[in-house]
Amino acid sequence: MAGLKPTIRVVLNRKEYRDSIQKYLRGEIEWGHRSLSYVKKLTRDVLRKEQNEICPYCQRVIVVERRNTLEDIEHFLDKSRDCYRRHAFTATNLILSCHSCNIEKGTRDLGDSSVRAARYLYPGLGRFRWPHPYYDDIAACVRKEPGPVYIVVAGSGREVETENMIKDLKLNQLRNIESRHQVLTQRSRKIASIMASFITSDRESCKRRLKFLVEVLEEINKELY
Ligand SMILES: [Zn+2]
Repeated sequence: MAGLKPTIRVVLNRKEYRDSIQKYLRGEIEWGHRSLSYVKKLTRDVLRKEQNEICPYCQRVIVVERRNTLEDIEHFLDKSRDCYRRHAFTATNLILSCHSCNIEKGTRDLGDSSVRAARYLYPGLGRFRWPHPYYDDIAACVRKEPGPVYIVVAGSGREVETENMIKDLKLNQLRNIESRHQVLTQRSRKIASIMASFITSDRESCKRRLKFLVEVLEEINKELY
């Protein structure tokens, strides 16, 4: 099974970032330090592309309007835990997740004792509580039905982990499903009304916006149906 590729490694290995990353790892500066802001920005850009703008946990599109705002780098093994700080810039520990998954995951510990003790991360190192975004193909472990309702795929070898992930992230809670459905429905109605207002215009800028809106609508529909 294959998950994400650690393409971000190329950025993290660049000479110009080495000093700041080392300082962070030694505990001399914090995550929010300005000397890390550029490497974090590049990391976000590379991850967004590698992930195809999809949240690896819930398999939903990371909503378009969040693209340039607060979306942050998410650490599969939480960097706020002392034992995982050393993996804060490890390629296979970095992803972008959607806001809801990020909130639900919080500082949950996804490793067992061998993962906690490990200096380096690699597949089979220990047991992870959830399927791993790089070492497993999460999209093959979980099936998202319209709604969305999440079903554990049998035979992936990660059934228990997938079950944990669905439960921990409350992916199947009615409240979440309904509110997500409501948000998407409202958004799609709004887009339809903007598009309708463009029909009478033949301005070039409207055409460009229409193209963009159609793309957004297609993404929403993919999730809704
Ligand atoms: Zn998500």
